[in-house]
Amino acid sequence: MSEFTKTLCPYCGVGCGLEVSPPAQPGKATNRDSQGTPIWRVRGDKAHPSSQGMVCVKGATIAESLDKNRLHYPMVRDSLEQEFRRVSWDEAFDIITKRIQTVRYTQGSEAICMYGSGQFQTEDYYIAQKLMKGCLGSNNFDANSRLCMSSAVSGYIQSFGADGPPCCYDDLELTDCAFLIGTNAAECHPIVFNRLAKYHKKNRKVKMIVVDPRRTPTAEAADLHLAIRPGTDIDLLNGIAYLLMRGNAIDVGFIDDCTSNFPAYAEVIRHYAPDIVADRCGISVADLETAARYWSQSERVLSLWSMGVNQSSEGTAKVRTIINLHLMTGQIGKPGAGPFSLTGQPNAMGGREAGGLAHLLPGYRLVKNPQHRAEVEDFWGLKRGQISPNPGLTAWDMITGLEDGSVGLLWIAATNPAVSMPDLERTKKALLRSPFTIYQDAYYPTETAAYAHVLLPAAQWGEKTGVMTNSERTVTLCQAFRQPPREAKADWEIFAEIGRRLGFIKEFSYANSAEVYAEFVRLTRDRPCEMTGISHEGLREFGPTQWPHPEAAETPRHERKRLYTNLRFHTPDGRARFGAYHSRGLAEPPDPNYPFVLTTGRLYGHWHTQTRTGRIGKIRQMHPDPFIEIHPRDAAKLGITDNQLLEVRSRRGKAKFPAKVTKAIAPGTVFVPMHWGALWANEAEANALTHPESCPDSLQPELKACAVQLVPM
Ligand code: SF4
Repeated sequence: MSEFTKTLCPYCGVGCGLEVSPPAQPGKATNRDSQGTPIWRVRGDKAHPSSQGMVCVKGATIAESLDKNRLHYPMVRDSLEQEFRRVSWDEAFDIITKRIQTVRYTQGSEAICMYGSGQFQTEDYYIAQKLMKGCLGSNNFDANSRLCMSSAVSGYIQSFGADGPPCCYDDLELTDCAFLIGTNAAECHPIVFNRLAKYHKKNRKVKMIVVDPRRTPTAEAADLHLAIRPGTDIDLLNGIAYLLMRGNAIDVGFIDDCTSNFPAYAEVIRHYAPDIVADRCGISVADLETAARYWSQSERVLSLWSMGVNQSSEGTAKVRTIINLHLMTGQIGKPGAGPFSLTGQPNAMGGREAGGLAHLLPGYRLVKNPQHRAEVEDFWGLKRGQISPNPGLTAWDMITGLEDGSVGLLWIAATNPAVSMPDLERTKKALLRSPFTIYQDAYYPTETAAYAHVLLPAAQWGEKTGVMTNSERTVTLCQAFRQPPREAKADWEIFAEIGRRLGFIKEFSYANSAEVYAEFVRLTRDRPCEMTGISHEGLREFGPTQWPHPEAAETPRHERKRLYTNLRFHTPDGRARFGAYHSRGLAEPPDPNYPFVLTTGRLYGHWHTQTRTGRIGKIRQMHPDPFIEIHPRDAAKLGITDNQLLEVRSRRGKAKFPAKVTKAIAPGTVFVPMHWGALWANEAEANALTHPESCPDSLQPELKACAVQLVPM
């Protein structure tokens, strides 16, 4: 038997395969970290189809975080002023169950909320949906994916009739033109970018366009970098469409046969002449024309985007405007082409499949759809009408629900909202008002633990077996290779025990996670994300696979790699829909009082709020401190020099960062990384500044941009 256990990197949505082996092996020196502590060996899995053995620094060092700052026991306290006291699981379950019952009878099920995470395995997500939306009748389950890619979900649903990225990673090496917008893939999705960059380097005819207000490492590799003003993405995309139309570079046959609503779109596009667009975006007409020429001269265009598009008060419109370009040029359903959203979290895709957002039900179903509700109710053995027809509270709604007292119980799992939510001062004040907060996590302390009444220790990566789906719909079994420390339990087991204690004994009786997964995939039958042919056993034996994967599928894998190859979509008429949008710009544009646009983002080594990466020596050395990027021209105007401390103020809060004076950022815009919470640095929280204005369709907040003033210190 191999000493290696196959699993998946638990950081980003690229979903790289890993192989893990014990620290001590016969005939080899014990593997140790920089402090001399034995740690598991990790290497890339060469057989994994998505990553082919590659890993970035996060995946390579993940084992170092396994035993650091773990939460080992359930703990409770009656008020936030008290110290926690250790309790047994039995006592913790009893306290939680009684509290759920009390809130149900006094305020109703709608007062119960759960805020989960793209770090969940699909089994965790699924059991949480069954507990919350099924048994408790509350759709108030939302995940941190709301802050990450819910605009991609709503964009796909509105354009294609169903969620699901149509492309696959092989397309990175088959395209003629990669169009990257709002994504610093070189730092945030490094292995996807490695594949693309290698191919681009070898094939000089292949073009790479990067749209980003910053000159990121991704932009450095591009043939054309369009450093547009924040909030002008739709202007740019419509401007490219204008030039494609003017040059007759559109696929009339595809538009006629496969789409609807083109006339309304064309009417909008005629307002986006190049001089107007270039002026709004802050780029030259020549660069805009080059971008349109690259599109029109390429038989296969692949668009890639992530948070720079999604985290916007017009996120859905941006996603649909990207998709429009593919529809007008017929660039979809074929190798090397299509609109491809890169997910942030390792299993945000699995969460979408399992119904892990407040408006979704398992199997790409919608809460609002009566037939979808009935199908799930019947499957779960519930009476008709048990699932509420109303979408539940989203991540930010839960904060406002705490403010107005309508939330009676908040259960947070595997995420750290006291760093990652917008408008942190308001978020923290709301968390302080929570009558009862359960915080379930692998690590302690975290910033959010300070707001909890109950702490539940969760098993994490490597300590539970379950499934994750990456950005290209590849489903991988993440196998446990060690026991959870002390009393930590898998998230799904915790949810299932609460379900049983609430009286749903049969509904939550599972021998293991394989049984949970087997039940979940049956709910995907005949759905766009069908996975009835996937099981733990099959994944263990045959390795990762992509969905759709029906039971006993004879369809070879290469034919399942892309969606919409038959050019029929999931809309009632089978046609993809054009969305006609004018640009609305930023929700909070700069003004004389707050003259700079602050944009936020991530660094290569760190992951989200540093719960893991902040404890890994190599990564801390790589990115020891937060900073603010400012253009030399702006720095000179303000009399700022490199490393000088700046106080950054927005209408909501303030933070302090040392200046990094660089031409990588456009004049008028400043950038700060989002990784530093109160545990890691004093007054350097990016989200102290951001605002919660959200896209009306996806309800995803505009974490990417707000207006700020800079005060040298
Ligand atoms: Fe992990 Fe993402 Fe790095 Fe791959 S690219 S090793 S999934 S963090």
